Amino acid sequence: MASHDDLLHDPTVIATRDLIRFDTTNWGNGKSTGEREAAEYLDARLRAMGLETVVFESEPRRTSVVARVPGRNPAKPALVVHGHTDVVPADASHWSVDPFGAEVRDGCIWGRGAVDMKNMDAMIVTALEEINASGALPERELIIAFFADEEDGGKLGAYHAVSERPELFAGATEAISEVGGYSITVDGKRAYLLQTGEKAMLWFKLRAKRPAGHGSRFVPAADNAITQVAEAVVKLSRHDWSMRLTNTTSEMVAALCTLTGERPSAISPDELALRTGSAASWLTASLRDTVNPTILEGGYKSNVIPAVAEVTIDARPLPNTEEEFLATVQEIVGPDIEIEMNWKLPGTEAPSSGPLVDAAVAALDRHDPGATIIPYLLPAGTDNKSLSRLGIDGYGFAPLRLPEDLDFPAMFHGVDERVPLDSLVFGRRVLTDFLLSY
Ligand SMILES: [Zn+2]
Repeated sequence: MASHDDLLHDPTVIATRDLIRFDTTNWGNGKSTGEREAAEYLDARLRAMGLETVVFESEPRRTSVVARVPGRNPAKPALVVHGHTDVVPADASHWSVDPFGAEVRDGCIWGRGAVDMKNMDAMIVTALEEINASGALPERELIIAFFADEEDGGKLGAYHAVSERPELFAGATEAISEVGGYSITVDGKRAYLLQTGEKAMLWFKLRAKRPAGHGSRFVPAADNAITQVAEAVVKLSRHDWSMRLTNTTSEMVAALCTLTGERPSAISPDELALRTGSAASWLTASLRDTVNPTILEGGYKSNVIPAVAEVTIDARPLPNTEEEFLATVQEIVGPDIEIEMNWKLPGTEAPSSGPLVDAAVAALDRHDPGATIIPYLLPAGTDNKSLSRLGIDGYGFAPLRLPEDLDFPAMFHGVDERVPLDSLVFGRRVLTDFLLSY
C-alpha cells in the first residue's frame, strides 16, 4: 500500500488536481467559462508523447482535442477513448472546500470534476504516458478525444465534432468513457458497474397559449395559459410510467440475482435495485421512463393574464421508444398543449457481452481478483450518444475501486465532489492494462 505522500506524487493524482483548477463551468445554452485552457493542457501532454493532435473550437473558447495513437494490431478496429473537460456549475457557499481548489483531505481530492469527469481525463492521459514511456503500443489504434460542452448535451462538443469532423473517428467501432467501471457494494460484495447502454434524452417544452387579458376578469380555467400548463405538468408527473426491461436491464437483473443468490421469479427488479446501495436511484431509473419538470415560465405582471405559459421537461425514455413515448405525452397532456422539442439525443444499447466486455472483466480481475461485473443502463447521457450517430458502440468504463461508504453516484453534479487518491491509481493501472490487452 502506497503512503499518502507517495500518492500525492502519483501522475494521475497530479493531473486530476491540475484539471480541477481550470474552472470550466458550463452554465448551459452556450454560456460557459470555456474549456480552452483545459484543452490546451491536455493537448500539450498528448503532443509531448509525439502524437499529432487536432484542436478545434465550435465557438470561441469551446475547445475540443482529438489525437490518434497507433496500435500494435492493425487488424483490429480503432477504439475511441473520450472524456469531457467541462463541469456543471458549483455554488461555493454549499461546499466544504473551494470547488476549484483541488484540495486533498481525508485521502481524497475534492473539487468540481473530481467525479465528473476530470478523474477519467487524467487517467486517460496518464495511462497513455505510462504506455508511451514503456516503449509499448496499445493493442489497437486509439482515438483519444477530449470534448467541450458535454454537460449541455454536447452541441458545442461531441455532437459538433461528429457532425462537422466525422473523419476524425473513421475506423472506430467502439468507445469507452465515463459513468461506469466504478465499484459498488451489494450484500457486502464488491461489484463493478459497466455501462453498456444509455436511456434517450428529450428536452422539450409544453406550451399553453390562451387569450391575454386583464387580471380582474372572470376567465374559465380552460382559458388561462398558466392554469392549463400547470394541469398538463401535473397529469404528466402523475402518469404511471410502468417498468419495462430492455436487453441491458435484463442482464443487470440476472447478474444481481447471481450476486445476491435470489431467484429471478422471487424478487422484483425494483427490489434488486434497492439492494445496490448508493447505485439504487440510478438503477431504479433505468427500469422505466422518467419525466421531470425543470423550468416553469409564464407571465410578467400581477394584473395581466399572460398569453403564453411554458414548462420545460427533462424526459429520459428507454432506448428505442422515443416516438412512442412522445405520442403518449401528447395523449396525456391533450391536443391543446404544444410540444416543442429543444434537444434530443437517442438512447443506446451496446452488446453487454463480447470481446470488449471480456477484456474489461479480465483487466479488472487482474487488479481486483474475483470482482463481479454488472452491466447497466445509464439513465443519464454521455457523449457516447453523439458517437452512436457514427455507428460507434459506447461503454462507460472509467474503472475505480471505491470504499463502500463513499456515495459515488450522488456526487455526479453534487456538492463536495471527491475521489480517493488510491482509486485514481487503481483506475490508471486497470485502464493501462485494458488498453494494452484489448
Ligand atoms: Zn460527465
